[in-house]
Amino acid sequence: MTAQYVLAIDQGTTSSRAIVFDRGGRPVSVGRREVPQYYPQPGWVEHDALEIWAGVREVIGVALARASITRHDVAAVGITNQRETAVVWDRATGVPIHRAIVWQDTRTQPMVDALAAASPLGVRRFAAATGLPLSTYFSATKIAWILDNVPDARRRAEAGELAFGTVDSWLLWNLTGGPAGGIHATDVTNASRTQLLDLETLSWRPDLLDAFGVPAALLPEVRSSSEVYGTVESSSLLRETPVAGILGDQQAATFGQAAFGAGGAKNTYGTGNFLLVGTGETIVRSEAGLLTTVAYRLGSAPARYALEGSVAVTGSLIQWLRDNLGLIRDTAEIEPLAASVPDTGGAYIVPAFSGLFAPYWRPDARGAIVGLTRYVTKAHLARAALESIAFQSRDVIDVARAAGIELAELRVDGGASANELLMQFQADILGIPVVRPVVAETTALGAAYAAGLAVGFWGSLDEIAANWAEGRRWMPQLPAAEREARYATWQKAVTRTLDWL
Ligand code: ADP
Repeated sequence: MTAQYVLAIDQGTTSSRAIVFDRGGRPVSVGRREVPQYYPQPGWVEHDALEIWAGVREVIGVALARASITRHDVAAVGITNQRETAVVWDRATGVPIHRAIVWQDTRTQPMVDALAAASPLGVRRFAAATGLPLSTYFSATKIAWILDNVPDARRRAEAGELAFGTVDSWLLWNLTGGPAGGIHATDVTNASRTQLLDLETLSWRPDLLDAFGVPAALLPEVRSSSEVYGTVESSSLLRETPVAGILGDQQAATFGQAAFGAGGAKNTYGTGNFLLVGTGETIVRSEAGLLTTVAYRLGSAPARYALEGSVAVTGSLIQWLRDNLGLIRDTAEIEPLAASVPDTGGAYIVPAFSGLFAPYWRPDARGAIVGLTRYVTKAHLARAALESIAFQSRDVIDVARAAGIELAELRVDGGASANELLMQFQADILGIPVVRPVVAETTALGAAYAAGLAVGFWGSLDEIAANWAEGRRWMPQLPAAEREARYATWQKAVTRTLDWL
């Protein structure tokens, strides 16, 4: 094989990027472009899918030019994407009938409430089948909203004139020819976030389509995460290159971290945190509110599953200390400030800015700083803020542990994983090693791996795992008794935020 590279398209909520990777999984070049955001009403968040497609074509060109390569050097294309965001378009013209409704958009709350009220199971109504609670987060109610609000859309959907896709599906269809024979498919990980997919059979469920009012004729074919879906037809830059890998962003990051097996776990430290813990071929259902999701499926091999938990306020707490309190001028200053004291002076910050999510599920909670004395300085508060990120991650990880999943170590990525003090405390409070890879671009890398595996660019998961190189490892240093005492005090601090509203 002459091609020495794989290109990954990373279509995120705030930016679209294309990254060229070499056989060692090292990024060679990047093209990046912002995604315009539209906020037509409070709680509404939209993207223009045509702008996304144009932006993706542009960044592909930039990445190829910066690497000084052509399509002949690219063995395959992989796609990773913002999940759940819903696009509905006209199959004949390729024009979306409405702007894409983004995962953050909450306009469908009335529909969610009505569906929950109609069942004794409430928001858990479809949880057994889909692994997800009812929420505006997932695609199903977004599709229904578009069909109910765009004139004639429902009739046209039933007549097969329209197509729905998450952003991976939209890009795949356009890359492979659009109206002139584009492939209308999605992968299992993205499909598992629509709330229309049966987690066991990995096919669309007629009863869910009925409940949400989504015609089957609208839906993409569900394929694996790693196979040749088709070849690029519409972008001359990559013409005839196979599109061979698709993974939703969090699943892609887990794959890029080579956390393939049961107990393999990654935590992404961004504005919020995203934790995924692999459960192998077993579908594990969590009572405490973690989502059950498809981790990946390679060709015709059995699917692998994961538990997913997110923490709403982590990196954004550091931004709050900077922007609202003026405690620091730059987020990077948080670490030296926190490191200037040996402990938090007894202070705990619980950033329940919008209530508490998993495992507490308390919308009535609001943030609190507790344990204050005359002794506490801003350095102590800086330290307490970092510790709150680690404590909240333990809250979520303990739910996975309670479901019987043993974690040997935690692989980390994202902006705040640069913070060494935070990473050390995370290891201390979990009692397991925390490990950061050399290549931080784990999301795009995961999509590249899925695509490269399908075309034989990489031979096996073992070969990929061998590419994964450890950048830094933090070993737990806190004695177990102290660890549990600190964690118990955190849990006590959490109780002080409850019943506030
Ligand atoms: P996202 O992808 O969610 O936009 P990033 O992965 O770029 O986020 O991470 C940015 C977040 O990380 C910001 O919320 C910022 O406050 C936080 N952050 C960045 N650097 C540090 C640091 N050294 N210590 C703690 N938090 C940090």
